[in-house]
Amino acid sequence: MSPSHRSSGRPSTKRHTPSRRGNPRKRAMNRKARRVAVFAFSPAMMVAALVLCGIALTVWSCSSFDPAPSRRRAVVNTETPAMPAAVVVPAAPLYPDEPDIRVRIKQAVDTARIDGPAVLMLSAQGMRPTPISAPVTIASGPGGIRFDPQTGDSLQYPEGITVTVQPSGNASGNTTPTTTITITPPAHAAILQMDGIQYPGTLIIRPASDVGPNRFDVIADMSIEDYLPGVLAKELFPKWPLAAYEAQAVCARTYALFVRDLDRAAGHFFDVENTQSDQVFGGATTNQTALTAVRNTRGAVLTYQGKPFKAYYSSTCGGRAGSAADVWPIGKGFEYNLAPPIQGTVHDHYCQQARLYRWEVIRSTEDLSRRIAAWGKNSGHQVRAIGLVTSISPEKLNATGRPARYFVGDDRGRVFSLSGEELRVACNVGAEGLPAITPQTRVNSNDLEVTPSPVGTSPGFIIRGRGFGHGVGMCQWCLKGLADRGVPWDQQVLIFYPGAGITRAYQ
Ligand SMILES: [Zn+2]
Repeated sequence: MSPSHRSSGRPSTKRHTPSRRGNPRKRAMNRKARRVAVFAFSPAMMVAALVLCGIALTVWSCSSFDPAPSRRRAVVNTETPAMPAAVVVPAAPLYPDEPDIRVRIKQAVDTARIDGPAVLMLSAQGMRPTPISAPVTIASGPGGIRFDPQTGDSLQYPEGITVTVQPSGNASGNTTPTTTITITPPAHAAILQMDGIQYPGTLIIRPASDVGPNRFDVIADMSIEDYLPGVLAKELFPKWPLAAYEAQAVCARTYALFVRDLDRAAGHFFDVENTQSDQVFGGATTNQTALTAVRNTRGAVLTYQGKPFKAYYSSTCGGRAGSAADVWPIGKGFEYNLAPPIQGTVHDHYCQQARLYRWEVIRSTEDLSRRIAAWGKNSGHQVRAIGLVTSISPEKLNATGRPARYFVGDDRGRVFSLSGEELRVACNVGAEGLPAITPQTRVNSNDLEVTPSPVGTSPGFIIRGRGFGHGVGMCQWCLKGLADRGVPWDQQVLIFYPGAGITRAYQ
């Protein structure tokens, strides 16, 4: 749809037609369903300056260290490097073309704002695509979703209608490619910006009436290679070595494609969250190491028996890898958590630099008991009836010696059984009258040794822990340690996923 359609009349107020406030004239409708266009930026490559990071602060994701959102991605080289020999190129690619991915970037909000580019194209199934000027505020109300531009008429879509927003490249004020920028087609220079963050591709505004009235989700739909730099820039520290970024790119790509395919088979309307529920994603980035790492590993995924698996990863393994089957469900529909590469096996580790490689917190008996009881109540677990905790000890270990389950005893002689993840979450759950959990009091992993406080001190427990996160699969701080030792990405990733191979999934 070209911008010239703007002069062809106004949309009507009929259902399935966006309406302009104060402009009731009818407009012809195009009922043909329109497929969302997916924009494919060429990823960047540059020679990154590798500075070993001396910062030893660790968070679950490294988002607090992310640079400011980018205004524009600088692309200085488009030459594709050769893949390492370890990468298998199958006779038929796993994907005929580079796949797209749908990332939920806002959940059940009632307002959002698109800042640019200057002209947006709105489309919905069965309706004629309609241009609108940015900036535009999106609001959901009883009549449906409304787009209010700063200048010009508003557009209203009837209740229940999903609207796709595309940049209108022709109208962008700054789209001239330079000799060092490769953009195909030229319209890709126009990038959407929502609430100050840039997103390649398109945005989908979808009513979330199942959550509450007047709510909507926003899903960013983009090519997988455009998505990955925005993950890496959030998941790793800015000055970490390129090889760590490359290994992270392969793990993140594998994870994303696995989840994508699972969600699409189930008919879900998005593929991944932009949070720690899946992978943290902060939109387009100017982090050159992230851009280069994605480009250097283009299409490379981890496979088991020829297919990607759910390549979990976490911040700090603490030396003992976790097992997916101990942390997540394994019943019908969750068989993928039994995949051999994501069960913990003994291997050397390199995350000793991490701040939470070892840690210790002290909790009073009352604090621990009340939180565990509150978690039991919330989750319907029988531990809701626990009295005062008297002991916490490993019940079952995995192959690395990391506890998979714990016994929790109380002052009435009862013993409850909790998985390591259940115990970790329970220790951190909020309970009425107790202080909020802080980084100083948080139980950071499920690899714990719990001992009573010394005699003469307040009744309580010393919790000594290893690592940060679930510990399954790749360990980000181990990547850092391996990259510092000069280990290339293709060797790094195979350490964490025993039995896996590396395959180029698409060109
Ligand atoms: Zn580690």
